[in-house]
Amino acid sequence: MGNERIYNFSAGPSMLPLEVLTRAGAEITNYQGSGMSVMEMSHRSKVFQKIFDDTKAKFKKLMNVPDDYEILFLQGGASTQFSAIPLNLIGATGKADYAVTGNFSSLAYKEAKKYGDIAVAVSSEDQDHSYIPTQEQIVVRPDASYFYYCANNTVYGTEWQYVPETGGVPLVCDMSSNICSRQVDISKYGVIFAGAQKNLAPAGLTIVIVKKELAGHQDPKTPLMLTWQTMIEKDSMYNTPPCWCIYILGLVLDWLEEQGGIPGMEKIKHGKAQMLYDVIDNSRLFTCAAQPGSRSDMNVTFRSATPELDAKFVAESVEAGFSNLKGHRKVGGMRASIYNAMPVEGVEKLCSFIQAFDKNN
Ligand SMILES: *Cc1c(COP(=O)(O)O)cnc(C)c1O
Repeated sequence: MGNERIYNFSAGPSMLPLEVLTRAGAEITNYQGSGMSVMEMSHRSKVFQKIFDDTKAKFKKLMNVPDDYEILFLQGGASTQFSAIPLNLIGATGKADYAVTGNFSSLAYKEAKKYGDIAVAVSSEDQDHSYIPTQEQIVVRPDASYFYYCANNTVYGTEWQYVPETGGVPLVCDMSSNICSRQVDISKYGVIFAGAQKNLAPAGLTIVIVKKELAGHQDPKTPLMLTWQTMIEKDSMYNTPPCWCIYILGLVLDWLEEQGGIPGMEKIKHGKAQMLYDVIDNSRLFTCAAQPGSRSDMNVTFRSATPELDAKFVAESVEAGFSNLKGHRKVGGMRASIYNAMPVEGVEKLCSFIQAFDKNN
């Protein structure tokens, strides 16, 4: 292994800002004179409580979370919420509607089917999940307890460019792979959740933003640890929270603030994605997997004419100092995940590499 940091295009866990890692490194054995690492601290200690409160306050401010919502810092990954969502919400009518637009919404849909009458409100499977359906294609039953969608399809590289209208049915959204990359009007949602390891922190932390009035109506058999109401009452500390991840999240949020907050990051990330899509669109060899208008700013999926040429591209990209550009097996080809922490320079270098490969092959 070399001493240089490389441009890591992993879909997750993924790059963290170098400033964050450097600061965490400096504080790793003795956090601000406490004589111990954040990893070694009691979650009930004053020092950790302050880290927790500050991080939550920063997140609330940055994301403009209204007062009638609670922010939870949980464990279990985004996938645990695939079960928690029906368990906490479906009681209202026993029905829920899902937009199936990729890998993770499909998994969430399958899991929810254990708990009630679940309908597919819309699906993009007919075209290999290469697009995001239009509002007109979505059928929401008026008596659904909630409507579920995944804002950014990490595997297929598509992203919703609008917030679906549900006619009053609470909106539930998986934002694991684009949270904090664009401005969101939280008040339109009932529940937003995200695993932290794409855009925010190390794996192990799941953020759930829940409208308080929707919590507390869970199925009586809901496991204690999946009960949002319990976690609201205990401020995410019914048990030990993922302390280290919460601390890193705080550092990432400071860094985000320095980038101009979410509006600043929105411009930066869109510029990076646009640059990459332009190079792919203007190449001879490569095409995008996602259709125009549905393309993700976070996960750019593309391919050449043959799997052999894709393999050659991936192999040469590794030699050139890039990692994790191989696409997900479900899509093939390549995927460049360019989350918030991917420096502009990393995308510029990838663009030059693509152009050179395009010329030489
Ligand atoms: C990565 C990912 C998940 C799964 O997250 P885990 O934390 O591994 O459970 C779910 N949804 C989306 C959109 C993702 O990108």
